[in-house]
Amino acid sequence: MSEEHQNQTVCVTGASGFIAAHLVKQLLEQGHTVKATVRGTADKYPYLTELAGAEERLSFHQADLLAENAYDEVVQDCDVVMHTASPYVVNVKDSQTELVDPAVNGTLNVLKSCAKAASVKRIVLTSSLAAITDQPSSDKVFSEADWNTKSDLKRNPYFFSKVKAEQAAWDYIESNDCGFDLIAINPYMVIGPSLGPSLNESNKVLRDMLKGVYPALMNLNWGIVDVRDVAKAHILAMQTPEAKGRYLIANENWTMTKVIGFMRELGYGNYRLPKLNLATPLGDKIMYLLSYTQPSGNGTYMRAHVGKDKTMRFDNSKAINELGIDYIATKESIKAAIEDVIQWNHIKEKPLKVA
Ligand code: NAP
Repeated sequence: MSEEHQNQTVCVTGASGFIAAHLVKQLLEQGHTVKATVRGTADKYPYLTELAGAEERLSFHQADLLAENAYDEVVQDCDVVMHTASPYVVNVKDSQTELVDPAVNGTLNVLKSCAKAASVKRIVLTSSLAAITDQPSSDKVFSEADWNTKSDLKRNPYFFSKVKAEQAAWDYIESNDCGFDLIAINPYMVIGPSLGPSLNESNKVLRDMLKGVYPALMNLNWGIVDVRDVAKAHILAMQTPEAKGRYLIANENWTMTKVIGFMRELGYGNYRLPKLNLATPLGDKIMYLLSYTQPSGNGTYMRAHVGKDKTMRFDNSKAINELGIDYIATKESIKAAIEDVIQWNHIKEKPLKVA
C-alpha cells in the first residue's frame, strides 16, 4: 500500500449491514478511521463497537437514505466514501417506495453531500450483479460491459433498484464537475460469516436449503462470493489509484445440486435438504408453473433464473487483473455460511435422525 493510502478517513454508509460490517472491520484492522452511518444508536451495534480499533477510530452518525442532506456532515473530512446502504429485500408491497426511492435518492443524497466536501476523492458504490443482469443465459458470458435492461417495478424489483441507483450515480458523475471519482463494486451472491445477528437475504438462501423451505432440487445456480472478499474488493478499489468503472465480484458459479451435494459431504444430511430431483427439463416446467403460486418477488426471480438454459456464465477477470483480488475458496465460504446460520440460531428446526 502506498503511503498516500494509509490512515485514510472513510465513511461507510449502512455500517450495520452484512457486507458493511466486514468492511468496517477490515478498514479498522488496516489502521483507517471509520465514520459509520447507521439508523440506530451505537449501543445497537456491539458487533461494531467491540471491533479491534473501534474505540479509537470508529464513530457513529445517524443517517437515513431518504432524508435530504443527511450525509452532509458525516462526509466532511473523509477521503473516501463507501456507499453500501440500500434496502436488500426480495418481497415488498410497494417497489417504488420500499426499494427504488431509498436506493436512488439515497445514492444521490450521498453524492450531493460528497460534492459539498472538498476532501472526498473517491466514492466506492456497492452496486450488484443485479445491475448487470437479472436473467442468466447459458449462451452469454456476462461482464462489466452489460446492463440489466429487463427488470422493472414488477419484475425483480430489487434488481431494478440496483440498476436505477448505479445508473443515477454514473449520470451524476458525468453531469457534474466532481472532485471525486466513482468505482462500482458489483458482487453476485454474497455469503459467509456474519458479524451481526441479522440474517442476510443471501445467507438466507443457504439457511432455507437446510430448513426444508425448498421442496426439491431445481435448476438454479449462483456465482458465489465470500463476504470477506467483497469487503476486500471495496478496500482494494479505494487503494488502487488506477481503478476505474465497474468491477464484477464473484468467484465460482455453483448449481443448487452441487451446493446440496457439498452440504451432505459436510455432514448436514440430517437437516431438511431437498431430496426430490426437479433439476430436469420436466422440473423446469413444473417450477415455472409453481412460480405463479409464490410471492411476487420470489415468483419473478424463479421465472428469470430457474432452467438449464439459465446457467450463469461470467467473466470476473477485471477485478482479478486490476484490483488483484484473490478469492477465498467457494467450499470455505459455503462451510462458513452454514456454520454461521446455525451459530446465530437461524434454524429453529432440530436436525432429523438419520438411520
Ligand atoms: P444488509 O445487511 O441488509 O444491509 C443493508 C444496509 O442498508 C443496512 O445497514 C441497512 O440499515 C441499510 N439501509 C436500508 N435502508 C436504509 C435507509 N432507508 N436508510 C439508511 N440505511 C438503510 O444487506 P447487504 O447484503 O450487506 O447489502 C449491502 C449492499 O450490498 C446493498 O447495497 C446490496 O444491494 C448490495 N449487495 C448485496 C449482495 C448480497 O448478496 N448480500 C449482493 C450484491 C450487492 P439497517 O440496519 O438500519 O436496516
